[in-house]
Amino acid sequence: MPSDVAAIRRSLRKWYGKHKRDLPWRSTADPYRIWISEIMLQQTRVAAVIPYYERFLALFPDPAALASAPEQELLAAWAGLGYYSRARNLQKAARAIVQLPRFPFDYSALLELPGVGEYTAAAVASIAFGRPHAVLDGNVLRVLSRMLAEHGDIKSTLVRRRLQTFADTLLDKKRPGEFNQSIMELGATICRPKQPLCTACPVCTLCSARQQGLEHQLPVSAARPIPRRQEKHLLAIEKQGKILLWQRPADSRRLAGFWELPERQQVPGASIYGEPGEFRHTIVNTTYLVQVSRASVLSHPNGFTWLAKSSLETFPLSTISKKALARLPE
Ligand code: SF4
Repeated sequence: MPSDVAAIRRSLRKWYGKHKRDLPWRSTADPYRIWISEIMLQQTRVAAVIPYYERFLALFPDPAALASAPEQELLAAWAGLGYYSRARNLQKAARAIVQLPRFPFDYSALLELPGVGEYTAAAVASIAFGRPHAVLDGNVLRVLSRMLAEHGDIKSTLVRRRLQTFADTLLDKKRPGEFNQSIMELGATICRPKQPLCTACPVCTLCSARQQGLEHQLPVSAARPIPRRQEKHLLAIEKQGKILLWQRPADSRRLAGFWELPERQQVPGASIYGEPGEFRHTIVNTTYLVQVSRASVLSHPNGFTWLAKSSLETFPLSTISKKALARLPE
């Protein structure tokens, strides 16, 4: 373990003060806003989150507004961000928060909220309330495993525990929120997964992987599953300014409550016309090769609804259906 903990803290603090990105959730101390940003940033890039974050907070500026939002409005505001259980859990948590005298400020109380795991509880407790909890997300795991030249699999419990201990040791207890953000920022912008920018790194001289020339080999992580491919043929069936869609049931395993374009086999009597559009769409480990065609029907099976095209923005439409409509040739 690098012995000079104080030097690491100092270097990170100086670097973060000078180089941190100007992000909307960094200019607030409001725990609600910080919590929303942390949930949105899970599995989603910063650049993609910013417009969603601003729109979401304009629609639901506080826990009370989120707690009372109609589900379709909530999902429409989240549509495109993916991992929709996050939005549903946010609302469940907001409903719990409005019953409390104030926003929960301590790590274990935050951990009790739906959708809040160890990472989010540590992030909100430290950033919004200055509580001394070290975060361990993907960026931090990578940075710390390189600084320690950790050769074990970062997905293993044992290695994670070791890295959590290191994170707890490094944490600057006087400024835990700033410290956590600085190490996450280092992982996001300098200690990148494929091409770490070691020559620009503030802890370069204190990093074991760099000293041993191992920065490109670490961290070690178990192989990812082989990606799958699947074909899909979607239909855009329109009539007098309306489009035919179906809604996933409330107990659907994925995208419950979302609206979708029909697939070819769902409307066997449809007549296809015009050139199809094509695109790829990846969900978790599956890449869909999607073809989208214009089609017409004389009648349609049960379970479909004509929705006005002009009102589609107010409905949660799946990302794949949104992309299909955008790629449809004229
Ligand atoms: Fe990452 Fe390189 Fe900095 Fe080490 S020196 S923490 S590998 S960017």
